[in-house]
Amino acid sequence: MKAHILATVACLALAPFAAAPAMAQSTDRAALEWDALYFANDSTLPFHAPDFTKITPEVMEVAFEKAMAIHDGEIAAIKNNPEAPSFENTIVAYETSGRMLNRVAAVFFALTGANTNDALDDIQTRISPKLTAHGDAITLDPVLFARVKAVYDNRAAMSMTLEDAALLEDTYEGMVHAGALLTAAQREQVKQLNTALSKTTTEFAQAARSAMSDQPLIVDTREELAGLSDADIKAAADLAASKGHPGKFAIALQNTTQQPLLPSLTNRATREKLFQLSFHRADGQRAVDTRMLAAKIATLRAEKAALFGAPDWATYAMWDRMAEKPKTALDFMQQMVPALAATQRRESAMLNEAIKADGGDYEVKPWDWYRYANRIKAERYDLDQDKVMEYFQIDRVLEDGVFYAANKLYGLSFKKRTDLPVYHPDVSTYTVYDRDGSELGLFYFDPYQRPSKRGGAWMSNFVEQSHLWNTKPVIYNVLNISKAAEGEVQLVSFDNVETMFHEFGHALHGFFADQRYESLSGTAVARDFVEYPSQVNEIWATWPEVLANYAKHYKTGEQIPAEMIEKIEAAGKFNQGYDFGETVTAALLDMKWAALSKDEAAAIDTPEKVDAFERKALGELGLEIDLVPPRYRTTYFNHIFSGPAGYSAGYYSYLWTQMLDQDSRKWFRDNGGLTRANGDHYRATVLSRGGTMDYFEMFRNFAGRNPDVTPMLEARGLTGGEAAE
Ligand SMILES: [Zn+2]
Repeated sequence: MKAHILATVACLALAPFAAAPAMAQSTDRAALEWDALYFANDSTLPFHAPDFTKITPEVMEVAFEKAMAIHDGEIAAIKNNPEAPSFENTIVAYETSGRMLNRVAAVFFALTGANTNDALDDIQTRISPKLTAHGDAITLDPVLFARVKAVYDNRAAMSMTLEDAALLEDTYEGMVHAGALLTAAQREQVKQLNTALSKTTTEFAQAARSAMSDQPLIVDTREELAGLSDADIKAAADLAASKGHPGKFAIALQNTTQQPLLPSLTNRATREKLFQLSFHRADGQRAVDTRMLAAKIATLRAEKAALFGAPDWATYAMWDRMAEKPKTALDFMQQMVPALAATQRRESAMLNEAIKADGGDYEVKPWDWYRYANRIKAERYDLDQDKVMEYFQIDRVLEDGVFYAANKLYGLSFKKRTDLPVYHPDVSTYTVYDRDGSELGLFYFDPYQRPSKRGGAWMSNFVEQSHLWNTKPVIYNVLNISKAAEGEVQLVSFDNVETMFHEFGHALHGFFADQRYESLSGTAVARDFVEYPSQVNEIWATWPEVLANYAKHYKTGEQIPAEMIEKIEAAGKFNQGYDFGETVTAALLDMKWAALSKDEAAAIDTPEKVDAFERKALGELGLEIDLVPPRYRTTYFNHIFSGPAGYSAGYYSYLWTQMLDQDSRKWFRDNGGLTRANGDHYRATVLSRGGTMDYFEMFRNFAGRNPDVTPMLEARGLTGGEAAE
């Protein structure tokens, strides 16, 4: 399972600006206004791909203002329509409004995620609250809602397609969820809370990124980095120099609590320093402190939930999820805790033995964990990660692995192109062709880590599929693979191989979209469903026929030995106490924050109380928290504290969708695996359905029954109180 952020650009819920912001630059306003008109129409490039040669931060800021004004005009036209409310003149007119805004937002948020800079960050700070206010003004407009409600109340008498019905229900329920049924005074409070949330979550995201990118571990001597490869040491020297510490060495932090270089470092003091720097990121020990931002976000959310009569944010937020209720998600996770805790204790005892055998006189700590776990894994499975990497060259993985599997299952083919502008030289583009040879869409691949990119991996669209607009999907995958030094062959870890298959699973969900309306198209599905197709796609990374086609040694061209793959798969079941445990812990920590009542949240009013809350929340789970801390601590839990809603009360989705995933893998295995018939069936029942129908029904159409948790528990060795090894 790859924990990552799926960027969902919620362009629909965006809308009025008060006054034009003062531009920092003295750029000629008229020229900017002219350039901003670029977004007024579909791009003239193939597939309406964004023309990055015409897009600057300043142009986008002006375009946002114009787009919001135009959107306001479109909404006013719906409200002022003298005809009686109908599906076409109200629901469809609303769905199709704000098109320019969608175009600007799709490009802008792609760039702030994958290639940001100070100018973009500043604009985001200014524009986010305005976008929120704009969206609220529309979804909370009483005149607009009265028209939507009139159509909704008449739905039994109307003849509609299933997709029309889904659009009507989503539109109505979405407005109710936004507060359309509240009093005017309550609606005003909701608007204020949303604006405050938007501002605070943006601050959190920027502070957390700064704590990650601007505060590398700096060490004085090469000796302290003993164990790292020459390439890693050179990168550390380069980074230190670029940070103003020539002659020293710097290790950049990555997203998660665990850090990828920890297992290689032989110097235990350096390991501890690197881990502590990561673990104490943004918690006040250094310049950045996000604790009060997290507390404020939790309070604002609990206050908002209370306005809707919900006891807590989790109850309010889960209304449109597959799981629907916090209790369903919590029970689902709690049932894993006893076996998981037992596995963690068993694994730590095993690691302590390994440390002792190594001559160490200490008990295992989180910063030692992977060093020894990897060593045991290497001994037991005789698996050298560097050797494994030699079989995974990035272009081969993408074109002969990821694309190949998509060809076998779905009949897709791909052609690289070099004629389209990209936002960074590392980004490549491909035309995707469907099973009948027609053009299906456009794919952008942006694989490498850089300081301007936020951590993690994600997929999103520049252009959404829609039969109404006659648009085909333009999709990007963003990853954070360490870039090889100049002139070196670009190899990737097996983990990143799986991430590439995973992200492309999201891309397939987007490419196979077959909807009339953008807001129901492709990956516009519930948060606890969206990670399901992407995880299913990971199964093909180790499918023998696929492997044989792409996993070849970069020097000799030899195929990866079958026993190496068997070992990778066996090793994949090793260390579940940590690997799975850190995700379950993060998911439960998320739920603890989301389950606070308004009063409970407000009582967390000092940084020390944030520390205490987190300690208590983690302590009462019944897991071995000191050994296996959460994958993200509160202070850098971007998934739940970045973005007005983010993945809050939704991190469990990664686990929930694993249930769907493992059960679906079983279906593929039981039905002959990598075949066009299986691919076409999955495409027809799940991948092409977007958000147009009930998720349990979708799953039943695919598998012929309801999802079953057993395959997931078995895959993790979590079937009893004491897990088997
Ligand atoms: Zn994903």
